[in-house]
Amino acid sequence: MSLTAGVVAVQGDVAEHAGAIERACARRDRDVEVIEIRDSGLVPDCDLLAMPGGESTTISRLIHADGIAPEIREHVDAGKPLFATCAGLIVASRDAADDRVDELGLLDVTVERNAFGRQRDSFEAPLDVDGLDEPFPAVFIRAPAIDEVGSADVLASWDGRPVAVRQGPVLATAFHPELTPDDRLHDLAFFGNDRATIESQTD
Ligand code: GLN
Repeated sequence: MSLTAGVVAVQGDVAEHAGAIERACARRDRDVEVIEIRDSGLVPDCDLLAMPGGESTTISRLIHADGIAPEIREHVDAGKPLFATCAGLIVASRDAADDRVDELGLLDVTVERNAFGRQRDSFEAPLDVDGLDEPFPAVFIRAPAIDEVGSADVLASWDGRPVAVRQGPVLATAFHPELTPDDRLHDLAFFGNDRATIESQTD
């Protein structure tokens, strides 16, 4: 059964996420159709969802204005996988300490936007991630860090600060896996999560 993957496409690395999803699905011998989510009414068709980086204030504003936000919540409530990266993590969090971000509260974490300092606005680091055998080439771009972690599991930390977490069907990273050819984190988010359900797999 073919999968439908949605990439929230109001802003950010949409094509890169689509490519990583296609590669991850191909490695699993799963057919996938990737659709871009710019309006409400499409998320309910999706088995998998990705929420890219970009500017969290803008993404938050647009997904609420377009009626996409409650559909993302329903997707996660139904146990379907969501992979949120960078600004996506900020929007998915419980609290981003910024009035301009209306958080979805899908992850029981608080985040600090732009936490890694101006001189290191962008950097790449080999990151040990729980669930991966080899370090992941993590690209940080004006990345957030996670402060308080409630019921989420920390999968990776950098400089002593959590930068990848998982809670139920949601996996989130402060960095940008879609900007590398390495699709192991997309695979982990969508297929390596025994607490997530992909509807079509059981059809
Ligand atoms: N700094 C951005 C924000 O706070 C996130 C950057 C990114 O997604 N690369 O929204």
